Amino acid sequence: MIEDMNPFKISQNELDLAAEIMNLDKKAHAILREPKRTIIVTIPVKMRDGSVQTFTGFRVLYNDARGPGKGGIRYHPLENVDTVKALSAWMTWKTSLANIPFGGAKGGIICDPKKLNDFELENLSRGYIRALGRTIGPKIDIPAPDVYTNPQIMAWMMDEYSELVGYDEPGVITGKPLEIGGSEGRFDSTAMGGMYVLREAAKMLKMDLKDSKIAIQGFGNAGKFAFEIATSLSGAKVVAVSDSAGGVYNPDGIDYKKLVEAKEKGGGVQSYEGAEKISNEQLLTVDADVIIPAAIENQITSQNADKIKAKVVLELANGPVTPDADRILFERGILDLPDFLVNSGGVVVSYFEWVQDIGGYYWTQDDVYKKLDTIITRSFNDVMAMQKKYESDGKRISPRTAAYIVAVDRVAKAMKARGWY
Ligand code: GLU
Repeated sequence: MIEDMNPFKISQNELDLAAEIMNLDKKAHAILREPKRTIIVTIPVKMRDGSVQTFTGFRVLYNDARGPGKGGIRYHPLENVDTVKALSAWMTWKTSLANIPFGGAKGGIICDPKKLNDFELENLSRGYIRALGRTIGPKIDIPAPDVYTNPQIMAWMMDEYSELVGYDEPGVITGKPLEIGGSEGRFDSTAMGGMYVLREAAKMLKMDLKDSKIAIQGFGNAGKFAFEIATSLSGAKVVAVSDSAGGVYNPDGIDYKKLVEAKEKGGGVQSYEGAEKISNEQLLTVDADVIIPAAIENQITSQNADKIKAKVVLELANGPVTPDADRILFERGILDLPDFLVNSGGVVVSYFEWVQDIGGYYWTQDDVYKKLDTIITRSFNDVMAMQKKYESDGKRISPRTAAYIVAVDRVAKAMKARGWY
């Protein structure tokens, strides 16, 4: 049978699997299979040449039983409503697993940000916020950065929202620049959280990270920092890295500084000299101990899961491993750590940012990292404990299913307490 690649179907299948194993109440299950609200907007944008172009944007609030919606906004030419729905479901499980007081949401605009200048990008970002109006807010739904969005875009959006409501409202959006209520440690928080997970996994597997080889797919918000942090904190060697145009491989290691220099010159990671050029697909099957998919969804599938050589797959992207691939990796004894555990560092520090904005606090980077470490380590332990609990009952479940059970159970309990079923 051909694998279903529709991300929303995938997210529903993952939920169904967990629901069956954990014997989830049927009414809770029905509510959790669909988003609470899906908004589709048309955004007219004044372009530099005087013309007006329209763009389609989405914002999905999946579930807010545990708190206001939370999740990033993606700018992508292939964005579509089903992907945003899936990502909003994954945000729901992510905030629940981290046990922070948020639900899940996600947004996206169909556009190619590489083809827009700053003037157009600002108009588009402000137009999106005007179109969403009061459907977002610090107690309703709080956006953040994601694929091809950044602190500057968050700043324009926060400013537009503040104009709309008539007062300064930094808590409406996270991932802002420090000057206007951003948090220390937010930029590299997704990668940092992933590294805490890797550290705990290595401890569990009795694996020495110092001599290990890492391959990273993606060199954006998450992948770039993962490279920097992995090599500086653990002493591991990054042997392969890629961006959307392709990758490079050198078994002796890739030099981070030289790679950044090469990339800044505008040629992508493949302009790095002294390494073999490889494709994004090849990157996933190179000889490495750890592979980190840090780009987009559906990268490890039933087509290539049996070719993965690594001992650990650290899912820093959202949805990089399909359910079929998850099963194959699990059967092969490869530790595949699920996205909504591994990449939760971003939203956890977003939570700290929101708390600081609302409470008027200012925390140091050290404070932020310590708090992040506590939450991520606790989440990792919750997942492993759930896996063991089922194992002692004679049921073998993957870390992803264990993580689902922890997260879904919390959301279901919150819905029950509110009287939703
Ligand atoms: N976009 C990030 C994610 O997928 C962060 C979301 C947030 O901070 O709200 O987890």
